[in-house]
Amino acid sequence: MIRSSLFPIGVLALSVLTPVTAYAEQPSNVGDAIMTARAYHDSGDYQRDFDAVILQARQTLARDAAHTRKPAIVLDIDETTLSNWDEIRADDFGYIPNGPCDSLPKGPCGAVAWEQSGRAPAFVSTRALIEDAYNQHVAVFFVTGRHENERAATERNLRAAGIPRWDGLYLRPDDSHVRAGAYKTPTRASIEAKGYTIVESLGDQPSDLTGGHAEHTFLLPNPFYRVP
Ligand SMILES: [Mg+2]
Repeated sequence: MIRSSLFPIGVLALSVLTPVTAYAEQPSNVGDAIMTARAYHDSGDYQRDFDAVILQARQTLARDAAHTRKPAIVLDIDETTLSNWDEIRADDFGYIPNGPCDSLPKGPCGAVAWEQSGRAPAFVSTRALIEDAYNQHVAVFFVTGRHENERAATERNLRAAGIPRWDGLYLRPDDSHVRAGAYKTPTRASIEAKGYTIVESLGDQPSDLTGGHAEHTFLLPNPFYRVP
């Protein structure tokens, strides 16, 4: 809450001579956060930080895959494998589930329409990690918070973005509204139950990675939104 400004004229002569201005400490400002997030992306810092994490994941896989039994990697999709920046920027960091997305680069861009369009590009560095996995005979699993009714569009998008194959694509049941960790952790356990060793798990949200069932975890930068 802001309190401010001069005492009313005539209340006290001394206050006119020495005006007192009082401000409460300011809470975080959403407008400032938007400018900071946009600058982080547009400066190239986002891509640089993202690529640095992926490089660590590639090095870890190169070190560990050959002497791991039935090795696998688990990747989240949004802001880990595919970039939704075009949608995020168009919506000024808001989440708009419904409505069309046919005015890019202007918004609004409905999230469902955007995902169904299958236009999200892959991160080049993540695609290189996946190609490493192919070359090292490491199984590739996607575990995403997207729902089953987006399976066809998601598969089409992955292929269009240069990711031709995977060993499993896990989406939420359409009626699932549990928190991400409550869905993703048991999904990784089910992959392990098939005999795989998950060398590493990658995601852009802490909820992608909590709960174990991976030998290493890699958290990618994402100041643009939060999935609890
Ligand atoms: Mg994500």
